[in-house]
Amino acid sequence: MTLTEHVDVVVVGGGAGGIAAAVGAARSGARVRLIEQYPFLGGAATNSSVLAFCGFFDQTHETVVAGVGGEVLDRLRARGVYAEKVMGWTGNRIVLLDAEATKIVCDEIVADAGVETRLHTTLVGATRHDGAITGIEVAHKGGTDRITADTFIDASGDGALLALSGSAARTVDLPDRQTNTLACRFGGVAEDADLSTDGMRAAVAAYVAETGTDMPRDHGIAVRLPVTGDVMALLVDEHFDTLDSAQISAAEASARAQTWHYLDAMRKGMAGWQQAYLVTTGPQIGIRESRRLVGKTMITTDDVLHARKRPTESIGRCGWPIEDHAGPGVTRYEEIEGGRWYDVPYDAIRCSDTDNVWGVGRLTSSDDQAFASVRVMGTAFATGHAAGIAAAQSSSGRPHDLPAIRRTLLEQGAIV
Ligand SMILES: Cc1cc2nc3c(=O)[nH]c(=O)nc-3n(C[C@H](O)[C@H](O)[C@H](O)COP(=O)(O)OP(=O)(O)OC[C@H]3O[C@@H](n4cnc5c(N)ncnc54)[C@H](O)[C@@H]3O)c2cc1C
Repeated sequence: MTLTEHVDVVVVGGGAGGIAAAVGAARSGARVRLIEQYPFLGGAATNSSVLAFCGFFDQTHETVVAGVGGEVLDRLRARGVYAEKVMGWTGNRIVLLDAEATKIVCDEIVADAGVETRLHTTLVGATRHDGAITGIEVAHKGGTDRITADTFIDASGDGALLALSGSAARTVDLPDRQTNTLACRFGGVAEDADLSTDGMRAAVAAYVAETGTDMPRDHGIAVRLPVTGDVMALLVDEHFDTLDSAQISAAEASARAQTWHYLDAMRKGMAGWQQAYLVTTGPQIGIRESRRLVGKTMITTDDVLHARKRPTESIGRCGWPIEDHAGPGVTRYEEIEGGRWYDVPYDAIRCSDTDNVWGVGRLTSSDDQAFASVRVMGTAFATGHAAGIAAAQSSSGRPHDLPAIRRTLLEQGAIV
């Protein structure tokens, strides 16, 4: 069955970037179709158990992202599930999430804006003509549909739309890509249990000595989540090509096997973990990096480190430092000057060779180290929101009117 439909704006991917893009475009008057391959929205937060929003605040704790992203936080507050934490070693202020509350808040915010959401629907093809995307093909349980639109937003994280349409994208060389991590949630961890890195190091060392198991990381991040009291752990690293189906299949299985070893190690070696059990892995391994947009401009390492301000070009702020997961077990932080923020310019979400597509979230055009800062979900909400407004305005005949985009962002509560 092939159905052809026309809408104003297509958004591919229902993570932080895609949700903000779809809501921003719908609130600007566009008919918006949001395509998501999984049965729920939320992106890495809900499909990879990355249950912490980073990037809403800079390191002085000033709020740098509002708008649609801020409204997601308000909706979590209204449900009584809002929780924050200041991370001890970096001073970063993060928002901790409950997976199910996050899913329902995402459902509601897009529905209230009038977005036409299609879950269980995967982008499988795209056509491009004369420097513009003309349509996409999606597959779902009932068959395939062709959707044409005036404007398109790639919020797929992996640059699926950019790649399928032949629009300017860069596949980051594997050795330079950040490592991937299978996040998981543990239940049954006592309230006063040890969550310290020193505790993990000792438990993993004892386990390796006893069993001879190969464990790439000797410690990771473990934080207590709201509502369930589960502990989210980022411990299991796998470095491989996420765009290769054989490699990703092997890595998912290997990461799950690793997770059981870490659980065993912590049960045996850490105070308060004796009754711990595995609530869930992923479901999918967390992918940090694959493709990126080649934009009209690129955010550079210097822009990040020197907190570069671009008062007339800005469509959002990023206050998250460089956090580079350079290899299994290796994380390198570098601070933005003064612990503050830099501006994300409009041209970093515009495609260099295709005028009617934007790349947002972790596709934002950036060099490798700047990427390690701009990729977080708070900033993904900001870039998505801006692209949504820009795409809606372009579809109504006002292409790339940056002052108008910035004005509408402010009217919709964003910080630019
Ligand atoms: C292990 C790990 C830990 C991290 N820790 C944090 C953290 O603590 N805090 C933080 O803020 N950030 C963190 N990040 C970074 C952050 O999660 C991502 O960079 C961010 O989610 C990017 O948002 P996005 O909207 O661009 O993409 P995503 O959240 O990846 O969303 C993309 C969406 O597109 C969908 N999609 C992809 N391809 C298709 C297709 N062909 N058809 C239909 N749908 C498709 C996906 O299913 C997904 O829902 C972490 C990342 C990883 C991997």
